[in-house]
Amino acid sequence: MKINETVVQLETTKGSHAFLVLTKQIVLIDTGMPGLAGKILTELQSLGISAREIQAILLTHHDVDHIGNAKQLQEATGAELWAPAEDVPYITGEKKRPGVKHWIEMLVRPQKPTITHLYGTDWPYRDISVLHAPGHTPGHTVFQIRDVVFTGDLFKFVLGRFRTFPALMNWDQEQAMESLASLRRLQFEWLCPSHGSPVRNGPKLQEFLAHAAKH
Ligand SMILES: [Zn+2]
Repeated sequence: MKINETVVQLETTKGSHAFLVLTKQIVLIDTGMPGLAGKILTELQSLGISAREIQAILLTHHDVDHIGNAKQLQEATGAELWAPAEDVPYITGEKKRPGVKHWIEMLVRPQKPTITHLYGTDWPYRDISVLHAPGHTPGHTVFQIRDVVFTGDLFKFVLGRFRTFPALMNWDQEQAMESLASLRRLQFEWLCPSHGSPVRNGPKLQEFLAHAAKH
């Protein structure tokens, strides 16, 4: 689904979206559930993008449905792989998540990618803002490119309804709510959550964010 002339939500990543962003450089935001690398590359090709044109892959956080194809896509594209420093040990498997996320990890084991760059150090892409939005995971990160904000797992927007993640899926519930509410400080036209559909700014969205601020 094309959101505007620079952003495409990839159809093959329904369930946990990856986004193609065509700015001065070509980047992917997140990589979807494991097992989709081939389909993602085919979709990119159908959009006129060859694997080697992807310059960077930006991970919002360490969950398996976001890093699922990072290793295969990194190999196929030769792209830089960026992640938040706090989440790296969980991506590499050096640390295990507590609680329910540990069991998800046991069931779905993506191949471990090699993180080549960390946000905050020598960020080269001036037209992409990197915003620390922790809570869902310790390093959860969102991105703004022009009037589009890629919100990762701050919330879901499914079938026209806003949903927050249950506390047991969040690393730090209070922090997650604060990060969600902090979206109110941004100027944007679209929010693109990883789960569900992109949502246009308006009274309904602002009401949802205001409600999050009260938690
Ligand atoms: Zn997710």
